[in-house]
Amino acid sequence: MKIAPFGLMILLLTGCSRTYVATSNTSEGAPSTNSTAVVSNRDMKHKVTKSEDEWKKELSPEQFRVLRKKGTERAFTGEYWNNHEAGVYRCAGCGLELFASDTKFDSGTGWPSFYQPIEAEHVGAEEDNTLFARRTEVLCSRCGGHLGHVFEDGPKPTGLRYCINSAALKFEKK
Ligand code: FE
Repeated sequence: MKIAPFGLMILLLTGCSRTYVATSNTSEGAPSTNSTAVVSNRDMKHKVTKSEDEWKKELSPEQFRVLRKKGTERAFTGEYWNNHEAGVYRCAGCGLELFASDTKFDSGTGWPSFYQPIEAEHVGAEEDNTLFARRTEVLCSRCGGHLGHVFEDGPKPTGLRYCINSAALKFEKK
């Protein structure tokens, strides 16, 4: 199977199979360009920490399965794959803004798909070697919740496809 250059880069840089990296290309600790908060990549990592029991109480069973257990919802069954309304998609676990509707596109996969996050620092990527495939997992930078995966077959301008579970998101209409 072809190794995605992005995934390979992470693998070469780290030499291990589970490494948390921010997708931002700003250097770690550099001030964020986000006008609402100045947060370094390090600070964003797992800022919200809760026990498994606490998450279980707060989340629906499906949200818990996806966000905390890295589950994947069935294609075309989630709440947002076909949502075309204008607004912001937040993390269903901690409320962090993750994706904007104007970067959402119809991928035909049955999962909400975006070509970029709302702020690079708000999502992290981790090499995922499960299911006999090398994929790049996408995580919420604040609570560490599993969101989905990112692939390199997306549209312009980034060429990326963030394939995200609806259950990991909470849509806020503009
Ligand atoms: Fe979160």
